Amino acid sequence: MGFFFDFHSHRREFSLGEKAVVSLFPDEMADLFRDGIFFSSGLHPRFIPSGDREAESLLESLSRRLRDDRFIAVGECGLDRLASTPMGRQMELFERQIKLACEVRKPLVVHCVRAHGELLATRKNAGNAGIPFCIHGFRGSAKLAEQLARAGMTLSFGTVSFADKGGADALLAIKDEMFFLESDGSPEGVGPAYLAASEILGVDIEELKEDISRWAASLFPILNRGDGNPAKTRVY
Ligand SMILES: [Zn+2]
Repeated sequence: MGFFFDFHSHRREFSLGEKAVVSLFPDEMADLFRDGIFFSSGLHPRFIPSGDREAESLLESLSRRLRDDRFIAVGECGLDRLASTPMGRQMELFERQIKLACEVRKPLVVHCVRAHGELLATRKNAGNAGIPFCIHGFRGSAKLAEQLARAGMTLSFGTVSFADKGGADALLAIKDEMFFLESDGSPEGVGPAYLAASEILGVDIEELKEDISRWAASLFPILNRGDGNPAKTRVY
């Protein structure tokens, strides 16, 4: 049976049986220990420190964290045209995090705002590392969604993605590919995104849960290990 899977969340409370990837800044405490709740961590392009030493120390914390089994993805990291950090510096830090992801063989949770051309170029530069690039909170046209899917990227949609009609068209355009749903900053959780997606696609929520659970387990094999949050005494 499928479960609700929240691909990208900043929440701290989840309902029983729900599985999620909670996004943390590299120096943000991992204080949530429950079966099925995992973490991702990365330098968000909107919060890149201006000092080199600070950025280096965050990257060090990040690389330490990524050795922990509970940190199952790198991110959110990426490129944001509206951020104050110059695009060159953003790309440099994004590339460093792609390298880290390749070292630990964990997928990337990508934040991308109005920089999809640069994102495609960065992925090309990174070569065929075989690390999945998953764009969270996708907002854009059906054409862009198709273009990113063709480049091998996976999309995750939240309720904000479906706020305008473009989001529904984008989901319909890539519905035969693997995709995810997420709550991101919404206190209402991932349920509303499942409801919206099931209406757009004309499928039952249970069916959607089953597909997405299967995709989640293929992307994050740790989800296959029972309820799979390994008990550990220390989190980096
Ligand atoms: Zn987020």
